[in-house]
Parts: sequence; structure tokens; C-alpha cells
Amino acid sequence: MSEAPSRVVQGNMIGLAMPDVDVWSERVVTVLGQNPGPFTGPGTNTYVVGTSQRPILLDTGQGLPQYLPLLVRGLEEHRGAAEIDRIVLTHAHGDHLGGCNQVRERFGAVPILKRPWPGMDAGLDELVTAIDHDAVIETEGATLRAIFTPGHAEDHLCYWLEEERAIFSGDVVLGAGTTVIPEHGGDLADYMDSLRRLLALEPAVIYPAHGPAIRDAGRKIREYLAHRELREAQIVALLREGLGDVARMVERMYADVPPFLHAAAATSVRSHLRKLEREGRATRDGANWAPVTVAPGT
Ligand SMILES: [Zn+2]
Repeated sequence: MSEAPSRVVQGNMIGLAMPDVDVWSERVVTVLGQNPGPFTGPGTNTYVVGTSQRPILLDTGQGLPQYLPLLVRGLEEHRGAAEIDRIVLTHAHGDHLGGCNQVRERFGAVPILKRPWPGMDAGLDELVTAIDHDAVIETEGATLRAIFTPGHAEDHLCYWLEEERAIFSGDVVLGAGTTVIPEHGGDLADYMDSLRRLLALEPAVIYPAHGPAIRDAGRKIREYLAHRELREAQIVALLREGLGDVARMVERMYADVPPFLHAAAATSVRSHLRKLEREGRATRDGANWAPVTVAPGT
């Protein structure tokens, strides 16, 4: 056995608890989406951003009824606010945009800003104000700039909070554990490019969509990159051993995680294999994968 660790990013979000409403900075208040789970951790962080009585809401949670009173409370207690200026979304997954309708029922026809993803915007297409990379969204006390960060989802935008050199990272970087690269809309090579794009901004802090704030932002992003690079090396090594079946690769690579997470692990392994396939480094015959050996001198 090699001396290399089996994983770079340690731990996961299971059992992690956070307050329902919390103040993270003078311009950032969190309200927890009330949707805890193995992949959402304590639930989705929704963010009240700005210092005025009409702040922005960044992501809306899943749409659970118990969320709305907490949002109302957070706005009242920390902004003296009963209004929301705009809803700004990171991406179309249900635990981020699922609360749009209930927020609009309570607060009126609040504009919804996101990068459109036709067919995936949960019937909100007509309501969405389209934004894209470099869009600037200003509110009192906060300036957000959109950063296109596909890989976890093809519509994903992170937001740079200029006043704090902070990144609202959505599902690209999480407060604990690692993110999923889904079969639909996910792309590992894009994801790694997105991580590099965030790293280049030299952020001071990351406000993720799940889990606590990340104060050592650069180190966390480098750790995420190293984690995927190690996984790729492990997969290439298994292919060279002649192990090309995803389920058996997962058994070997994820011996340290409980079996109920193996389906998610398989999704991750397949995302690596698709990346290797596109790079001409792996090939598939039915369900079996094999390495592509490059002849010497080519
Ligand atoms: Zn997501």
C-alpha cells in the first residue's frame, strides 16, 4: 500500500448543526432552509445581503413552510425589514430555488435573478431576469458580481461580495465535505476550472450554500482541487490494475464511507471517468472501463 492518504477532504456534513438565523457579518445574515440531509448538511443557507430595510435574498431554500417564519424573523430582527429587493439565485437545484414561490407569495412580485437553464428552472422561466458572468447587483451596503462557475450545475453562478472579498459559493465549495458532480448538468473538468477561477480571486472568506463559513478560503479551494486530483490518480491506478467496474472501484476507493453514500460516490467516479474519456485517457466497453495506453514515442 502507498503512504498517500485515501482522501484529501476529510469528514462530511452528516450531523452538522447550525443556528436557524445567524449574523455572519455586518451585511450578511443567514436563514437556514430547514432541509437537513446527507447532501444538504444542516440545510441550505439562504442569505439576507445588504444593510438596508430592503435587502437581497440570495437563494431561497427548498420551499418548506417552516422556513418562511424564520426568514420573516431574520429580516425583522436584523434589518427592521419587511421587504425583499430581489431574489438572486446560484443555480436551479430544488434546494436553492424551491422557495421562490413562497417568498413571492409573502413578499410580493420580487424579481428573480439567475442564469437561465431552460427546462430546469422549475416553471419560473417567465419570472427570471437573466444574468450571466460579470453581472453586477448592487444594494445598500453590498455589491455582488456574478462569477460563472459550471461543473456542479451548468447554470451555476457564484457571487463575489466586493466589500468583504467574500464568495457566495453556492454548491461549488461547501462548508464541510465535497460537492456532487451530477450526471445531468455536471462536468468535472468544468468544475475544476470553476475552482481555479474562484481561487484566482484570492477570496478572504467563502459563504457556502451548505455548512459554516470558510475563513481560510484559498486553502479550502486548493484542498478541493487536490482532492479531485488524488481521486483521478486513484482511478487511473485502478484502471491500470484491470479494475474497470464502477461499483468495484467505489468499494475500493470509498471503504471509509458508509454504504448508503456509495451511490453518490459512484456518480463522482463516473464524472472522473467521463473526464478521462474526453481527454483520451480512458475508454469504455459497455459497463467496463479501461485505460488508454499511449505508445512510447507518440
Ligand atoms: Zn446544487
